[in-house]
Amino acid sequence: MQNVDKLVNPLIFHPYEEQYDSTELVRESMSVLPAWMQPMLTWLTAKPIHLKAKVERSAWSHLCSTLCMLIAGVSITYLSFNSNWYYLLPLSLVLTVSGMRKLQVVIYHHCSHNSVLKTKTANSILGETISIILAIKNFKNYQKDHMVHHNAHGLLTSRDETVQDLEKVGLIPGQAKSNLYLRLYLSFVSPLIHLRLIWGRFKATFLSNNYQHNLLAICFWSLLCFTVNILHAWAFFLVAWVFPLTILYHISRTLRLLVEHTWTNDISERNRDFIAATTIAVFCGEALPCVGRNNYKKIVAYTYWSIKMMTVHLFFRVFVLVGDTPCHDFHHRNPSSKEWLSYIYAREKDQQLVKERGQFLYKETWGFLAAIERNLSAMSQARGLYERS
Ligand SMILES: [Zn+2]
Ligand SMILES: [Zn+2]
Repeated sequence: MQNVDKLVNPLIFHPYEEQYDSTELVRESMSVLPAWMQPMLTWLTAKPIHLKAKVERSAWSHLCSTLCMLIAGVSITYLSFNSNWYYLLPLSLVLTVSGMRKLQVVIYHHCSHNSVLKTKTANSILGETISIILAIKNFKNYQKDHMVHHNAHGLLTSRDETVQDLEKVGLIPGQAKSNLYLRLYLSFVSPLIHLRLIWGRFKATFLSNNYQHNLLAICFWSLLCFTVNILHAWAFFLVAWVFPLTILYHISRTLRLLVEHTWTNDISERNRDFIAATTIAVFCGEALPCVGRNNYKKIVAYTYWSIKMMTVHLFFRVFVLVGDTPCHDFHHRNPSSKEWLSYIYAREKDQQLVKERGQFLYKETWGFLAAIERNLSAMSQARGLYERS
């Protein structure tokens, strides 16, 4: 059965996966690496070695880094268009999607909890602006739906937006795992699925129940299209903005939704423990291999590990698990906390407190593909939790 799984998703296998019994030791294994590498590893994995190295971040730093990512992505696309540097295009598109996703899944999301800017009005204005720029659900509707997602009785039911969005691409709990993998791959390439999602976003942007939102969206998008027309920049606009905002955005979003929560049969009562059991951190990275004193083996193993960290794990951190999404478990335990700004350290601190208090422990998965594998297994056995209203 395991071999079948590896055929379906060959990337999940790596030779060091069985060396560490406890996932808590994965980040610990990297402590032998030089001190200058640690801040980068802390960001990449979203897990610190210790709390002493805490870096405080502000809402503005998150907002600025998101906008910089977007500007860098669009600028590099422009460069690759005008200098025949087409090989830069994949990088520029990944950066653009990363910026767009961070704008939605981090800034817009935390605005709905009123935990980005100081006042409720400022958070609403920012959230509404993002919803128009990204052509997504209007902010007030999102805020209402998102509260259902945070309710223990709403989470992972048919009223939950995460379950609804997965259903839109054919990912429904209770299907065989191989079928779920097939539907996931299909959701990346199917023109029908993308067109359906685009139509849904079109309706949410221009035909929502909020007329003021619709009017503002029509003004913004008309002005944008008018400017593009004046500049004769349709080809550039389609590649630099529309393609990452639609196809690539949908792929990133589906992957993220799949690992956002997991399904469990362990807890029948819907309470705080149910939320904790269904929300597991997903860290991008894997344990540094233990290879003894043989220098040749060490060089080979460390080179393999470094390449994987800087390709596979970095890609998923930038393309899918942007901002505080690896620590989504901390957010569900502390939904309105402003501590999310320094999420890496906030989660670590809370994890230690939870241990001391004897509460439901935090759990973690290392490697995005391992999280997909685990969640699709759980999803295929989750018939009982998926109640339709
Ligand atoms: Zn969630
Ligand atoms: Zn939330």
